[in-house]
Amino acid sequence: MNMELSRRTFLKGASAGLAGTTIGALGFGEAETAYAAAIRPFKLAGTTETRNTCTYCSVACGIIMYSKGNLAKGEKADIIHIEGDVDHPTNRGTLCPKGAALLDYVHAETRLKYPMVRKPGSDKFERVSWDYALDRIARLMKDDRDRNIVEKNNDGVTVNRWTTTGFLAASATTNETAWATYKVVRSAGMVVFDNQARV
Ligand code: SF4
Repeated sequence: MNMELSRRTFLKGASAGLAGTTIGALGFGEAETAYAAAIRPFKLAGTTETRNTCTYCSVACGIIMYSKGNLAKGEKADIIHIEGDVDHPTNRGTLCPKGAALLDYVHAETRLKYPMVRKPGSDKFERVSWDYALDRIARLMKDDRDRNIVEKNNDGVTVNRWTTTGFLAASATTNETAWATYKVVRSAGMVVFDNQARV
């Protein structure tokens, strides 16, 4: 942040400092102690910084998450502050209103943190393991592809189109992940493929 220090501000600050130390020199040590105690500690002191990418949109702004709690000591880490990463080439520390509200998103009670499934006939979602979810997705995709793949068009030309399952990818991935996702989807013949960035 750029801060311009005017002559007036400087003199005001210097006078306040002088007054504080003079009070101490005159034997008002308790006043100094009380003054020091009244100063709110820096809220990010003792926090752990973790770099990440804003999950909201394809701009993929860099963020820094500050957490308290030492996992190595068995404590629970809790994110207490998120701000833009000034070293990130995309956003240089700035965040739009959605990015600026990320802390609420992280702590939202409705945030989805693990796979959920609503089984046939059930009226509620229940938590399942990642292994279960991935196996189930793979099974359903394979069965659907086997049933519906269009191998040739009306002219007998091989097309291998799979139009009955769609795939939605995320934009906040690395180039390598995006490349691998694209290869898997297209080599399976899937036509319906989109991602959050609409590219
Ligand atoms: S801060 Fe705003 S512009 Fe940047 S990635 Fe998040 S939602 Fe997109």
